[in-house]
Parts: sequence; structure tokens; C-alpha cells
Amino acid sequence: MFRKPRAICFDMDGVLYNDTLPIEGAREALAWVRAQNIPHLFVTNTSSRSRQDLAEKLMKLGIAATADDVFCPPAAAGNWLRSHATGSVALFVPQKARAEFAGLDILPDNAETGAAYVVVGDLAHAWDFRTINRAFRLLHANPESTLIALGMTRYWQTPDGLQLDVAPFVAALEHASKKESVVFGKPAAPFFQAAAAKLQIAVDEILMIGDDVEVDVGGAQRAGMMGALVKTGKFRPADLQGTVIPDVVLDSVSSLPSFFSGLPTS
Ligand SMILES: [Mg+2]
Repeated sequence: MFRKPRAICFDMDGVLYNDTLPIEGAREALAWVRAQNIPHLFVTNTSSRSRQDLAEKLMKLGIAATADDVFCPPAAAGNWLRSHATGSVALFVPQKARAEFAGLDILPDNAETGAAYVVVGDLAHAWDFRTINRAFRLLHANPESTLIALGMTRYWQTPDGLQLDVAPFVAALEHASKKESVVFGKPAAPFFQAAAAKLQIAVDEILMIGDDVEVDVGGAQRAGMMGALVKTGKFRPADLQGTVIPDVVLDSVSSLPSFFSGLPTS
């Protein structure tokens, strides 16, 4: 049995809610975490909204959160670009996530050349051939351009079934452009390490809780964290037959308080 973590990172979709439907017991579990003064962050690959929107979504579900408690790819990529970018940025992200890229030189939405960075997030139903082909043209037109992926989640659980996330579209663009993406988000280790730095707690004392065995659990473990898999959201029993072995499997986040309380402190 592993040591009691000093901090917890919570994936959001599939752990606290399924799209718009709250997961039973999540509100109570997070209230317990706050009452115990356990440092925590919401570490999500959601790239369709800003941190402020995501915090408001949690508040509506009765979970206390501010924008500063949310750690997500658009914010991480926006911060990095503001300190490193030396050219124009093409955004393939929903309108609600654009606030995280304020202050950058953003290309118009019909440009087919001139991008130093092509940023790809979860456009979901807004993807069409013309849009993804424009991303390809931008990458091809500038051999020095950088493809930025806002997380590499393959798919997620919506109320009416599984839905493609960011990774399949990034993979198509990598294949066509022969470029490798730079990933801001899970499962990239620097993303988890940046979350640990924000918490000011060593990675090996942090537990990441997610419903994606590869992206949440495998990614966290490779970064040095402990990884817990919940059997909600996109979880399927076959997830337990793969190469990633979670440090713990919980029926749902609602089991966290009893599990946590039973752990040895050293
Ligand atoms: Mg999830």
C-alpha cells in the first residue's frame, strides 16, 4: 500500500461529471478534501473553455473552485507562447478558449500561410475537412512552424457515447506534415510537473485521479506521481488489462474519503 499523498490532482470530465451530468458523490468528496485542507488542483485536458468557464462549471455543480485552481492546456500553452513565441499563432480552438491566448499575434481565421505556431485543441463538431486542411496548409507552408497539441486525449465519454478528442486530429496533422507535436497537457510529463510546481509539493507526494488509464494514470506515473483510476466516465473493464497498472482503482471519486482515510501516513 502506498503512502498517504500530500496533495491531489483531479481530472474533471469523467471524474467529477460526465459532460454536463454530475457524478454522484463528487461534490461531497471535494467538500471533504477542502475540509481536510488537502492541497488540490483540477488538472484537465479540456481545451474547449477557459479556466474561468471551467471554474464556473464546477461552482454550478457545488464544487468550490477559482480559475487559479484549474490547470489546463490552453492556459499552459498561452503562458508558454507569451514568453517564447517569435511569430504569428494560428488557433484551432473553440471561441471560449481564446481568452487564454490574449496578447499574442493571432492570425486571421482564413489565413493559409504565415503561422509560426499552429495550436490544435478540441474543436469537436466544428472540425470539417476545410478546417483541418487549413491547419495542414499552415504547417506545410512554413517548414519551421511548430505544431502545438492541447493535450493528447484520444476520446472522451459524452452522454450519448464516446467522442473523438484532440489526439486523433493532431495525429492526422503530424502524419501529413511529418512534424512531431509539442504537447501542452496530459500525458506530457512537463504538464504534470508544472502542476506539482504550482502546488509546491514534490511529484511523488501527489495523487492524480482520472478516468483515462493512459493519459491520466500512465502520464502521471511517468512524471513521478501516483495514479488512481476511477471506474466512471470513459472507464471500461478492458482498461485494466493494458500496460498501465494504476496504483489504486476506485469505483468513483466518491470512494476517495474512505480510501484516503485508511492509508498509512508514512
Ligand atoms: Mg477524464
